[in-house]
Amino acid sequence: MKKAILICTCSFACPSMKDIDFAELSEKIRLEIPEASYMVLHPRICERNGEEMMADLLKEGVIYYTIACKPEKQEKLLRDGFQKAGVIMERDKNWVPISVQFKNTDQVFEEIERALKNGGE
Ligand code: SF4
Repeated sequence: MKKAILICTCSFACPSMKDIDFAELSEKIRLEIPEASYMVLHPRICERNGEEMMADLLKEGVIYYTIACKPEKQEKLLRDGFQKAGVIMERDKNWVPISVQFKNTDQVFEEIERALKNGGE
């Protein structure tokens, strides 16, 4: 299955994400995680503009790794985007949430790398 990474930066303003350099993180992913077919970085995927993007982008046959707030929160906030795309959101099948809260760039990168490299084909 194709693997795609959706990074939500929470408007670059969330205090719990202050130690993450999103520019460095995205470039490191591009260069060092070839398992990711592509990545998209958006400031607020849980709001209207983000949901519109998800509606256009998401499809069957892809595993989406969402890099954002706590998984429980993502589950509530991203449901509408999946629904608008007509894709059923199934945790650890086509959707793998990764929390970035209270982590730094290296920690987030390592978690993403581990998830994609261990996450099957
Ligand atoms: S999905 Fe989570 S991280 Fe992204 S904007 Fe919404 S609350 Fe912030």
